[in-house]
Amino acid sequence: MSLALEDPVSALSGVGEKRQAALRDLGIFTIEDLLTYYPFRYEDLGARRPSETLDGEKVTFKGIVSTPAVVRRFGKRSQTVLGLLIDRENIRVTFFNQPWVAKNIEVGQEVAVYGTYNAAKAALSAIKLVPATTDALDPIYPASKGVKAKTIADLVEQAWGQLRGQMPNLVPQHLRDKYRLLDKNQQIEWAHFPKDSADAKAGRRSAAFEEFFIFQMRLQLIKQADQSFGGQPLNYDKEAVAKLINRLPYDLTAAQKRVVGEILADQHDARHMNRLLQGDVGSGKTVVAAIAMYATVTAGCQAALMAPTEILAQQHAKSLAKLFDQAGIDLRVELLTSGLKAAQRRQILTDLTNGEIDIVVGTHALVQDDVYFHHLGLAVIDEQHRFGVKQRSKLREGGMNPDILAMTATPIPRTLSITAYGEMEVSVIDELPAGRKQIITSQLSQRQFDQALALMKEELAKGAQAYVVTPLIEESETLDVRNVTEVYQTLQAALPDYTVGLLHGRLKKDDKDTLMQGFKDNQVQVLVATTVVEVGVDVPNASIMLILDADRFGLAQLHQLRGRVGRGDRQSYTVLVADPKTDYGKERLKALVDTTDGFELAQRDLELRGAGDILGTKQSGMPEFQVGDPVKDLTMLTIAQQEALSLVRESDWDNQVENQPLVTYLSKTMAQFRHFD
Ligand code: ADP
Ligand code: MG
Repeated sequence: MSLALEDPVSALSGVGEKRQAALRDLGIFTIEDLLTYYPFRYEDLGARRPSETLDGEKVTFKGIVSTPAVVRRFGKRSQTVLGLLIDRENIRVTFFNQPWVAKNIEVGQEVAVYGTYNAAKAALSAIKLVPATTDALDPIYPASKGVKAKTIADLVEQAWGQLRGQMPNLVPQHLRDKYRLLDKNQQIEWAHFPKDSADAKAGRRSAAFEEFFIFQMRLQLIKQADQSFGGQPLNYDKEAVAKLINRLPYDLTAAQKRVVGEILADQHDARHMNRLLQGDVGSGKTVVAAIAMYATVTAGCQAALMAPTEILAQQHAKSLAKLFDQAGIDLRVELLTSGLKAAQRRQILTDLTNGEIDIVVGTHALVQDDVYFHHLGLAVIDEQHRFGVKQRSKLREGGMNPDILAMTATPIPRTLSITAYGEMEVSVIDELPAGRKQIITSQLSQRQFDQALALMKEELAKGAQAYVVTPLIEESETLDVRNVTEVYQTLQAALPDYTVGLLHGRLKKDDKDTLMQGFKDNQVQVLVATTVVEVGVDVPNASIMLILDADRFGLAQLHQLRGRVGRGDRQSYTVLVADPKTDYGKERLKALVDTTDGFELAQRDLELRGAGDILGTKQSGMPEFQVGDPVKDLTMLTIAQQEALSLVRESDWDNQVENQPLVTYLSKTMAQFRHFD
């Protein structure tokens, strides 16, 4: 009976129940899985050079014998010494007590010797001669306790022996031609059994592309299905929208104009919008959202804006009302928060249901509560990275199917946005409104705290306000972290002429709101806080952000905190007070001092931490790839995405002959992705 790709690995000889289970743990179920389980490195029996070899390392050198083998005897013992030329490096090879090897060695001959390298002496203490014909690279597979790498190698060899030449091409011919990718059979052959490192590289390159491409095909198909679900074009009033834009107190930046165009085009399209709007703090996302919401209203639908906290919801409701009012546009904007009296709440809910409210602002819970809209056309979610498939289907269960616009100030590096966030379209505002002053960031050690205080006093004397942020503390924590209350008392004593406020997570909601309002109204000049001030708070008069124990915060969080200043006309400062102990801690703070560009920071963070570290974790939502590295191979990943997108956009792509193996493969493997509706 002949072996087939879809057979279970137990079809191979030597795979019993136990081994099958161990292979399953590595994600290998079928013969096809096994053949696409690639080595992560290759043991090179020929190409090693002494200069690349560590002292004391066991190694095989292959080279040309440069001096005749000389045998010296000491009684029963002996040493056989010869010179070996490896590329252009000469080393001395010594065999102990193997005088017979001299007989087999001539000057000019190519030999391979395995032994222990002594770097200082440029010498190899030889263990044995290796047949010089072993040219190939030995594949080394990621293994586990249950299966050894060698076992996997043997199984691959066994399977490939029967299936060589029978692998269908999943990557269509036109793409293989365009990007010089190997035929699938050659790809498998070269990735598993390369005759040299060039083969191995080419094999892996094609395998990585295939992996990225299949992944992106799945994403694009999911997206397509999601977008077409009950979609309706939004016929908004173009003139009215243009009027709003003209009446804004400022000109939109080029980046804002571009993303407004992208969003309106999505809304106008029959497909559903699920778009992520990224823009650094202060880049002006709110006005973009306001334009999209207004467009929705002109089409006779309602819009909802959801913020992460009630303070931010209030802030949004106020600024939206002001924006429309200034533009002379008559709209009904309502705030729906838990602070409302029961009667007020009931009235708002009724008016939402009968369509008398155009725009409602609330917290993230808004669309999930007992809130019924007349016709919700757009849901804007502030400070949320993603509005996933699950959340959308929850909306649909409630009979709503609005366009979704998620907004985030957290810069998402491209690697993540086209993998973990791949189901969303992404718009980026990569430009700040003109005239903004760069925030000056500096780093001080704990001992230099007085300098930070001096700078703060200067700014306060100019009439500005200040934030002082400390890491969150738990009583039980024995870490050497400043206690927020202690900091508060210190500052109160040091700044007798100013009012210092203390904001932390354990304050009652009303007290929090009162304090925040006091800071906004400049009744409080210095706000000492745990990270509660992180998102969205807008106090343009604040010009200094002092972050204590800054090394305890993540890079993204520090960047967010910094974004609380520099929101008005004042030159603003961020001072990081910390004595970072690790290299990563130091690099992170240095990155912040070096740049205020959020995307650059995100990319640096990714590089500092490495793809393996964060991207591999479940939390980031980053899928793991077997061959490709989404950080290092970003260009390839991007191309795979573009090609997958243009393929699924062809109406009959799945009927074309060259795509049949791909179609079969996807339908076979996509069942697990189907439960999103
Ligand atoms: P984000 O939410 O992206 O952090 P906001 O939408 O809160 O930013 O905008 C920050 C500030 O910039 C607001 O006061 C807003 O009125 C102002 N703003 C937005 N767009 C522009 C622009 N094109 N020119 C000048 N000011 C702008
Ligand atoms: Mg905002």
